[in-house]
Amino acid sequence: MRDYLSDPRFSGVERFNKKIWLSSPTMHGDEQRWVDEALQTNWVSTVGENINAVENNMARFIGAPYAVALSCGTAALHLAVKLAGEKLNGKSKPGRGVLEGKKVFCSDMTFDATVNPVCYEGGEPVFIDTEYDTWNMDPESLERAFEIYPDVRLIILAHLYGTPGRVDEIRAIADKHGALIIEDAAESLGATYKGRQTGTFGDIAAISFNGNKVITGSSGGMLLCSDIEDANRVRKWSTQSREAAPWYQHEEIGYNYRMSNIIAGVVRGQIPYINEHIEQKRAIYLRYKEGLKDLPVRMNPWGLGESSPNFWLSCMILDSDAVAPFVRGENDQLWSSETGKSSPGEIIDALAFFGAEARPIWKPMHLQPIYTGNAFIVRDGSGRARTNAYISGAAADVGADIFRRGLCLPSDNKMTQNEQDRVIDIIHRCFK
Ligand SMILES: *Cc1c(COP(=O)(O)O)cnc(C)c1O
Repeated sequence: MRDYLSDPRFSGVERFNKKIWLSSPTMHGDEQRWVDEALQTNWVSTVGENINAVENNMARFIGAPYAVALSCGTAALHLAVKLAGEKLNGKSKPGRGVLEGKKVFCSDMTFDATVNPVCYEGGEPVFIDTEYDTWNMDPESLERAFEIYPDVRLIILAHLYGTPGRVDEIRAIADKHGALIIEDAAESLGATYKGRQTGTFGDIAAISFNGNKVITGSSGGMLLCSDIEDANRVRKWSTQSREAAPWYQHEEIGYNYRMSNIIAGVVRGQIPYINEHIEQKRAIYLRYKEGLKDLPVRMNPWGLGESSPNFWLSCMILDSDAVAPFVRGENDQLWSSETGKSSPGEIIDALAFFGAEARPIWKPMHLQPIYTGNAFIVRDGSGRARTNAYISGAAADVGADIFRRGLCLPSDNKMTQNEQDRVIDIIHRCFK
């Protein structure tokens, strides 16, 4: 971290006396009641009223027919991939992934939990480039991917930062090619498109109650589906695939992925506050939009006309000609300052110095060392992943461009207006 106290651009700026988080848990008190009840009645394992309530309440809130409570969003994505894989390829053999040798079209600019489950099941993610209007999967690149790999039957689509993706176009392409869609709605709980919540557009969907999401159970996640038999299979897999027998009888491989009734108590207490948290995050987004409008930057997209995001994280992207010299290697970065310009590296570093947490955009999967051998499909041709694509500024690589110019701003719903004004002031000084 640089020393910003000796930088005249920041003269008079004081450090925050308590840390301003990117997005931290917000408890309300009801959580304690349901956790206490679980402890007092000794329902502390993976069966109990809190789990039932969370499954019913979330299914109703989202408008999904069935919801299965699991240990985390990653577990939900894994079982979603397994379920989709069995629908497409039949039952897997023990020790063999159900997607072995199969390619899966995946969002590229996302958290790696979106795509790793494909590998858990022996599949091969093929990354689909991002588009600027939603910062999510680009339907044109997806269409191209089907031209190159016509046999693919599974798509995993994430709704990044709470902005719904182009679900109509992607559904039409999937139907045309007989493919299933898994929706990763981990970040977008409560966001809607044409009045329908994310998590209801895919054949299967996953949400997350990780500590930094819109609501949290400290951990936890959920699989959403529309078929009761699918829901029951996932419940069975998540509790070690026990058959209905007097002893532990096993006909298929199982997992220990069920949510505990204690965690479910925390989630149960949070559910009534989803809309309040979204309102607070919307206000934060709008204040940034107003407060940063005189700078050469834009906010992350609101999305399509009929989208209502959940504003999980407020992000901004610098105009191309407002980025000061800035390079990233695999594990480090360098930047220099120029009047009228700045860079994500500098802004994140300056905010951290004064005590506020900002973060780079999710580094696209095709730029990740584990996935450099995987195909990456862009609008004007199929590109192999090139780790230096973002340095060379390849025009077609939208994900690399957003990663290079963008950043996530402090978006904690407990941040006061005054604290946010100070964050906005620090960002302004970076451009001086
Ligand atoms: C948080 C997140 C997940 C994983 O959820 P966990 O509950 O942390 O396992 C998956 N995908 C995306 C896009 C996420 O942001």
